[in-house]
Amino acid sequence: MGKATGFMEFTREKGKERSPLTRTNDWNEYSAPLADDALRRQGARCMDCGTPFCHMGMELQGTTTGCPIHNLIPEWNDLVYRGQWKEALERLLKTNNFPEFTGRVCPAPCEGSCTLAISDPAVSIKNIERTIIDKGFENGWIKPRIPAKRTGKKIAIIGSGPAGLASADQLNQAGHSVTVYERSDRPGGLLMYGIPNMKLGKDVVERRIKLLTQEGIDFVTNTDVGKDITADELKNKYDAVILCTGAQKQRDLAIEGREANGIHFAMDYLTISTKSFLDSNFQDGNYIDTKDKDVIVIGGGDTGADCVATALRQKCRSVVQFGKHPQLPAARTSDNMWPAYPNIFTLDYAYEEAQMQFGKDPRQYSIQTKKIVKDKSGNVKELHTIQMKKLKDGNGRYYFEEVPGTEKVWPAQYVFIAIGFEGTEQPLLKQFGVHSANNKVKAAYGKFTTNVDGVFAAGDARRGQSLIVWAINEGREVAREVDAFLMGSSVLPSSVHQ
Ligand SMILES: Cc1cc2nc3c(=O)[nH]c(=O)nc-3n(C[C@H](O)[C@H](O)[C@H](O)COP(=O)(O)OP(=O)(O)OC[C@H]3O[C@@H](n4cnc5c(N)ncnc54)[C@H](O)[C@@H]3O)c2cc1C
Ligand code: SF4
Repeated sequence: MGKATGFMEFTREKGKERSPLTRTNDWNEYSAPLADDALRRQGARCMDCGTPFCHMGMELQGTTTGCPIHNLIPEWNDLVYRGQWKEALERLLKTNNFPEFTGRVCPAPCEGSCTLAISDPAVSIKNIERTIIDKGFENGWIKPRIPAKRTGKKIAIIGSGPAGLASADQLNQAGHSVTVYERSDRPGGLLMYGIPNMKLGKDVVERRIKLLTQEGIDFVTNTDVGKDITADELKNKYDAVILCTGAQKQRDLAIEGREANGIHFAMDYLTISTKSFLDSNFQDGNYIDTKDKDVIVIGGGDTGADCVATALRQKCRSVVQFGKHPQLPAARTSDNMWPAYPNIFTLDYAYEEAQMQFGKDPRQYSIQTKKIVKDKSGNVKELHTIQMKKLKDGNGRYYFEEVPGTEKVWPAQYVFIAIGFEGTEQPLLKQFGVHSANNKVKAAYGKFTTNVDGVFAAGDARRGQSLIVWAINEGREVAREVDAFLMGSSVLPSSVHQ
């Protein structure tokens, strides 16, 4: 344990963030690490509790509680307090292949279940994680680890998101020859095209891909498996195949006027924006430009928030985000007690920026879009909405009811639909003959085998749209199962609850 009295002496220090007013003038990361001495104080606050809930990593009340990859948080907190950064890095890399991603954009369910958070603000775990890995790269401690021996086994991984990358990393280190197929022009999945640059710098993603390439992993981009190369070709060429295709099939809005010009899926907006930024710093003009426009984002989640932040950087005239649910409470309620993830009101980066720029939070709660109205040229002109009330029926199930007299009209020239994802795309699964249910690949957690021999599935494709940290967990776990399938047993680590 770091400092026995640390939790009484020091308060929580939040990671540094650039000013919300100025950071919307560029696309650089908005967050920055805490200084070393502040991080050491945070490490000192860790109580090294006998049962560290921070790394329990399970679903409680339908949300993730504790770290899903079971990071050895109290151990590296202690090492950071003592200034032993290299040792902290070694501990961190035992459980997390990519701390530079989670240390930046994980929602940190570990902090919600930190024991200190029962009475005080949690230890700044995520910030400590980020700095440990950043120091690893800065000091040259991270070097390519090229496997000494190859097994002669060949594995194809379809999809280069965090699940695909984590399984590739593990299997490559086990000596197998790994090829990752990716439909996009750049590897990384949603880390590259999805999460915007201001949240996760693409140089950080590219640095990791470069390292994995140096270690022997082969990335084949611009290749849509199922079209450019068939499932049968892959099955014949490789000893095992892992489907890490994500869950990017977008949910649509079936309302009057949906076909109007100017209405796009959030993911299309975010993807081409990042691509244009990376290709040409927006000089190619291949992006949706909301400059001087009124923007409405339909959908109250994180994808919608990323659209808000993107529109702000494009200098939109106004931006509003519609959410179906009521505003969250300021503090935990009796049905959301520690150690469950705290479902409380927060002001995320995009909302803080909008508040600074326009003087108000862009979120509208308990609102439903009834119809979209077009102008004579077929362009979106306005959205008609009504307020909704969230009620509970006799069986405790929630339902929504319109509130009469709350109709409203909102001007808009661009609308982005961010109401969630239906699951993974079906044509490829059909080609492989793999079964699915509710648009997710049927493969049990812990085994990851599909109904087709030698074909496995992991990440969002299997569990539905989730978190990077879960994708890393599944990538690690499926790697172990594939290794055992090929070799009879595996020495790769597993953290699956038995
Ligand atoms: C806008 C947005 C923001 C998010 N922000 C966060 C966040 O801040 N923190 C967080 O923890 N999580 C966040 N998430 C969720 C997180 O990104 C995902 O849970 C995670 O990326 C899933 O990883 P994955 O590897 O399973 O799939 P993905 O990252 O979706 O990658 C799947 C890859 O498979 C490729 N692919 C699919 N089909 C084929 C094919 N036939 N041939 C070749 N390639 C194929 C796709 O092109 C894609 O690159 C966000 C999600 C979105 C949409
Ligand atoms: S990966 Fe996420 S949950 Fe795990 S320690 Fe890091 S921030 Fe916390």
